[in-house]
Amino acid sequence: MAAELRLADIHKSYGPVQAVDELDLTVGEGELLALLGPSGCGKTTTLRMVAGFEEPDRGTIRIGGDDVTYQPPHKRNLGMVFQNYSLFPHRTVAENIAFGLRMSGASRAEQQTQVARMLDMIRLPGREDMYPNQLSGGQQQRVALARSLVVNPRVLLLDEPLGALDRSLRESMQFEIREMQQRLGITTLLVTHDQEEALSMSDQVAVMNAGRILQIGAPSTIYDRPASRFVAEFLGTSNILTGKADADGRKLAAGAYSFALPEPQPAGAPVVLSIRPERMVLGDEAERCPSRLRGRITGAVFRGSYAAYQVRVEGMENEIFVYRQADGPLGAITYRVGEEHWLGWNADDGILVDPE
Ligand code: ATP
Repeated sequence: MAAELRLADIHKSYGPVQAVDELDLTVGEGELLALLGPSGCGKTTTLRMVAGFEEPDRGTIRIGGDDVTYQPPHKRNLGMVFQNYSLFPHRTVAENIAFGLRMSGASRAEQQTQVARMLDMIRLPGREDMYPNQLSGGQQQRVALARSLVVNPRVLLLDEPLGALDRSLRESMQFEIREMQQRLGITTLLVTHDQEEALSMSDQVAVMNAGRILQIGAPSTIYDRPASRFVAEFLGTSNILTGKADADGRKLAAGAYSFALPEPQPAGAPVVLSIRPERMVLGDEAERCPSRLRGRITGAVFRGSYAAYQVRVEGMENEIFVYRQADGPLGAITYRVGEEHWLGWNADDGILVDPE
C-alpha cells in the first residue's frame, strides 16, 4: 500500500542553526527520491522529521494525504534502515525480522510464514537461526531491510543504508535495493551524500545545501542540466567558465577568450557556463569545435574505462578537465603531460548555470 509522501514549507532550527529552510518535496506513490547533499546540509534532520523523531517548527508532513506532522513515530507505519544495521545482536535473524509482526500481535505461524517469505526475498533462505554477527555487513543490511519491510510500511526511509559497506558490495546492493523497491512499489526516501548512489538508485534526486533544496529532478536532468554552479560541482566534475555576455549576447567574454553561448543572453549579463569533462574534446577533433582553446597537458591518468586529462590554459584561473574514452584499449592514455593540444566543445554542451 504505497502512499505519497509530501513535505510542505518545512522549517527547523536548532538555536541559531537553520537546519532545514522552506523545504517542499513530494515523493510520488512507489517512487524513490534521494536527498543528496554535503555533510550538515539538513538531510538527516529532514528524514528524522518524516520519521517522527523531530518536530518541524513550521510546515506539514503528509503520508497518503494524512497529516502526520505531530504523530508519534510508531503510528506512522514507516520502515527504516540506517547505516549501522541496528539489528538486535542477541536475537536470531528470524527474531529480528519478525520483531514488528510480534509487536503487532501476529500469530507464531504468521510470523514464520512471513519470515520465510522475507528471507527468500533478500536471498538468504535458511538463515533463520543465525545471529547478526555470523552474517557479513551486506547480509546484515539485507536483514535490516527485511525487518523494515515485513510490516508493509507505507513509506520506507533509508539513511545512508550502504555507508558502512565496501565499494563493490555497495554497488551490488544498490541494484538489489532498487530492484526490491520497484518490485514492491514502495514509496522511499533515501538520504545519502554519495552522488553515484543517488543517481543510480532514484526516480528523483533532490540536491540540498544549507538547509534548502536547490534542485529536484530525474537523475539525468540533474546531471546534464544542473541549474546552479553548486549542483554542477557537487555532482561529478564540471569545468566552470565565468565572464559576461558580449555586446550581441551570443558569446561569453572571459578574459582574453570568447566562447559561443548555448542561448543568447542580455548584453553584459554575468554568465557562468558549466561543461562536463566527458563533453570536452581534445586533440585534432577539437580544432573543428566552435569553442576551442590551446592548452598544455599537466596531468594524464588511467581511470579504467576512460582516461582523465588536466589541461592548463594560459590566462585561465583553473585547469580544465577532459575525460576521453580512448580509441585503443579502454582508458589508455593517448596524450602525454607537457604536450600542447587543442581542446574544445560544442555550444550545446555548455550549460548556463546560476552563479550560486
Ligand atoms: P550528515 O551527512 O553529516 O549527517 P546532514 O545533511 O544529515 O549531515 P543534519 O544532521 O540534518 O545534516 O544537520 C543539519 C544542521 O543542523 C547541522 O548544522 C547540524 O549541526 C545541526 N543539527 C542537527 N541536529 C542537531 C541537534 N540535535 N542539535 C543542534 N544542532 C543540530
